[in-house]
Amino acid sequence: MALTLVDTHCHLDYIARQEEHPLGEEGTDPAKVVARALETGVEFLVNPSVTPTRFNDVIGLAERFEHVYAGVAVHPTDVKDVQETPEWAAELEALLSHPKVVAVGETGLDYYWDVSLKDFQKACFKTHLALGVKHDLPVIVHDREAHEDVHQLIADTPGVRGIMHCFSGDSDFALKMIEHGFYISFAGNVTFKKAVELQEAAKVVPLEWLLIETDSPFLSPVPFRGKPNEPARVLHVAEKIAELRGITVEEVAAVTTENAKRVFGLQ
Ligand SMILES: [Zn+2]
Ligand SMILES: [Zn+2]
Repeated sequence: MALTLVDTHCHLDYIARQEEHPLGEEGTDPAKVVARALETGVEFLVNPSVTPTRFNDVIGLAERFEHVYAGVAVHPTDVKDVQETPEWAAELEALLSHPKVVAVGETGLDYYWDVSLKDFQKACFKTHLALGVKHDLPVIVHDREAHEDVHQLIADTPGVRGIMHCFSGDSDFALKMIEHGFYISFAGNVTFKKAVELQEAAKVVPLEWLLIETDSPFLSPVPFRGKPNEPARVLHVAEKIAELRGITVEEVAAVTTENAKRVFGLQ
């Protein structure tokens, strides 16, 4: 049986620009990166944006490649980019009706890299959550060392739904977020040896709330840890989750693909 997978979160625009973790010659051409993903069984991938100057990049890639979709948002570590430009929200909102834009993302809170703009991060996150509700789109949430505040702001936004991307909490936190309509998406770090708490969470998330992603070019799964990542490697995340849950990789692939189509409205 051929596998069908979905990479619910990859930064193809970074890969195309050879940023952060360049893939070298292999990665220069996003067409090749996408082709390798499709060969592995990836049915579609979602490229979230991180700042307004990149909105056109992610939308351009989504227009160029049939199997690529986009998210638009300002990443919590990039909110400084919009501090002086309150019109960013209107600019973002105008893009939400684009046929290849399937999510508000990625947004959220990051208290690991930078806490200097904590309040502004929260304000921006709230704006994104409200746009998700207004346009009935899933919100892709980045949460780094900010579980409590992420939960609070989501709990304060009735009707919001979305994805906890690159999930980094424990089982209890996963189940709590599911109650608020958030899917739990696991990335390459679930394959890391010391990720015991995360692996525990990957065992208990109900299958119908489970998603997988690469967050490439970051977070390459074992056995590529430390190397640049790419969407094709979402297979290794699926394999690890299958191993943890004692089910087949085909089952993980099938159910996460169904879930991804449901959350992004691509049935
Ligand atoms: Zn993120
Ligand atoms: Zn990301």
